Amino acid sequence: MSDRFFPNSMPDFVPENPKLSEDEKEKAKQIQINEPGTDDSLQRLLSLPHSTLSQQLQRAALELKETIVLETWGLTGQRVEDYTLYTGTLGTAFLLFRSLLVTRNKNDLSLCFQMIKACDSSSINSRDVTFICGRAGVCALGAVVAKYLGDDQLLYYYLAKFKEIRVSKDHPDELLYGRVGYLWACLFLNKHLGKDTIPSTSTSTIVSEIIKNGRNLGKKGGSPLMFEWHGERYWGAAHGLAGIINVLIHFDLTLDEREDIKETLRYMVRSRFPSGNYPVSEEDRRRDALVHWCHGVPGVALTLVKSAEVFGNKEFLEAAMDAAEVIWNRGLLKRVGICHGISGNAYVFLSLYRLTGIVEYLYRAKAFACFLLDRGHLHMIRGDMHGGDSPFSLFEGLGGMAYLFLDMVQPKNARFPAYEI
Ligand SMILES: [Zn+2]
Repeated sequence: MSDRFFPNSMPDFVPENPKLSEDEKEKAKQIQINEPGTDDSLQRLLSLPHSTLSQQLQRAALELKETIVLETWGLTGQRVEDYTLYTGTLGTAFLLFRSLLVTRNKNDLSLCFQMIKACDSSSINSRDVTFICGRAGVCALGAVVAKYLGDDQLLYYYLAKFKEIRVSKDHPDELLYGRVGYLWACLFLNKHLGKDTIPSTSTSTIVSEIIKNGRNLGKKGGSPLMFEWHGERYWGAAHGLAGIINVLIHFDLTLDEREDIKETLRYMVRSRFPSGNYPVSEEDRRRDALVHWCHGVPGVALTLVKSAEVFGNKEFLEAAMDAAEVIWNRGLLKRVGICHGISGNAYVFLSLYRLTGIVEYLYRAKAFACFLLDRGHLHMIRGDMHGGDSPFSLFEGLGGMAYLFLDMVQPKNARFPAYEI
């Protein structure tokens, strides 16, 4: 068995059985409760009609959410040590926001707001500007949640605070700590509060600077765009090309900027490993090991799906479908989270399902979610699956699993948190 992933022995496709009797559905539920982790329990879950399975996933998500709130908020005396969405309190707030949109439970809204308020105080002097690891996440989520609360004064407060954030020359270009991580927060605000909440006049200079930096490091005949973070030219979603392109393609671009982006994606596709996986960086082109959102094929695949949609381009869709095969075979990671775990990898299938409507992709997302539902806890208790360095967090821990389960309830509305808009 590989060190990094469980071999995927689940069938490539199991059609839903809409004629399953109530007795059979109940039996599947009981087996899952009493004898999880067997081939039988997983197989029964996979053949459940979506409506029945989604109820089970929602129930599991809401139970997990209670535990996560207790561990990251209740038991900490509501103190914020790490405010970020990635591993901290804002990640729990983001989970509550997702839960609100699925269940319409108003308690989620008020608790979410209390957490954002605490994150606001804790991040007031932070120089980090991104959605996932910085102040932009706090202010953008604060403004959107204020709108759901119907509190205009708070909405203006958080928007004003957002507009105080300054992206400086010292910030890198990448997603977790850099310019595109700030731009993603602008996209989030425009999606939820109206398309000119942050007008393009406020973002166009940042977009141009990123492209300019990319061209300076890019090469004719190779990749037209290339970026560096801490001395390494990364390819993945967290620090590299995939993450940067994924954000840039949402903005107005000139014809030659669009061409440079397309050519950069083509460079990546033709330079991928024979296995179909993608290297971590230009400097690390031999090690075909990581199948993570942060480093490797899953983050690239999500960018390819979005690029196929934005550019109406069949070659990017085909590359994304190739990527999905790698993730199906090597993506059942021995980790639970969104960033480098099974939960995050499931989103590639959801994204392809949304774009193509092909039910096999919905099945594959369901299979990854069922694997976690059926045996995630068992594997973690036994120690053969890592629960994350921050075990209740959104990006590394159980928060990601709960978020995925909630997204499985309305799979067409699923979005990889803080990456797909
Ligand atoms: Zn990661």
